[in-house]
Amino acid sequence: MLLAIISDIHANLPALEAVLADIDERGVDELWSLGDVVGYGADPDECARLVADRCAVSLVGNHDIGVLGELDLNSFSPAAAAAVRWTQRSAAAETVDYLRGLEPADESHEVALYHASPRDPVWEYVLWAEQAAECIELQAKRVSLIGHSHVPLFFVAGDDGTDGAQADVGASAEIGEDRWLINPGSVGQPRDRDPRAAWLELDTDAWIARWWRVPYDIDRAVEAIAAAGLPDQLGRRLYSGQ
Ligand code: ZN
Repeated sequence: MLLAIISDIHANLPALEAVLADIDERGVDELWSLGDVVGYGADPDECARLVADRCAVSLVGNHDIGVLGELDLNSFSPAAAAAVRWTQRSAAAETVDYLRGLEPADESHEVALYHASPRDPVWEYVLWAEQAAECIELQAKRVSLIGHSHVPLFFVAGDDGTDGAQADVGASAEIGEDRWLINPGSVGQPRDRDPRAAWLELDTDAWIARWWRVPYDIDRAVEAIAAAGLPDQLGRRLYSGQ
């Protein structure tokens, strides 16, 4: 099966639309979302509607759970907490209902999915090989997908131990052997100093992963954030991709 993996959309509608157009141009069998549909950005309802319509598999992330009122907002940065509160006030009932029906992990497919990590599907940022090695021990399937850090990454555990690296744009990896933990990067708020929206193509027949980036209308996302009265920095950071 040819999959498009998206994650950390964060209510950035222009970024999501650009990624969906790119995915449609490539042509895939299914779209899977790793969560954090809302938070930070100004278009929670339209993003949730598109994810609900388009994604065959969909997880909930920590920002989504924050909006549901099920996480202490002291664990978020001040700007992130402000965006969660704004989303609680602004989001449609359909959006909240949709998020409430999702889980932060799904181990029922050929590839396992976790919003954050196999060890802690809600909060753990997997950024280092030693940490990834412990997570890979716990993952339910040979290949797992994670989001949350907003950085396109891969970790591979074989006979020689566990190694990992940031994934370059357009890079591909043959994942037919060993145990892999793969992050597509973020659609709506990249943090690897590349402002373009990220998605991952995953071929589970040929076992090839390919990381893509898509330019989008950042001005439009920033204007929506300003119009919503959300903290300025949430818009500014989109231009630098961090
Ligand atoms: Zn996120």
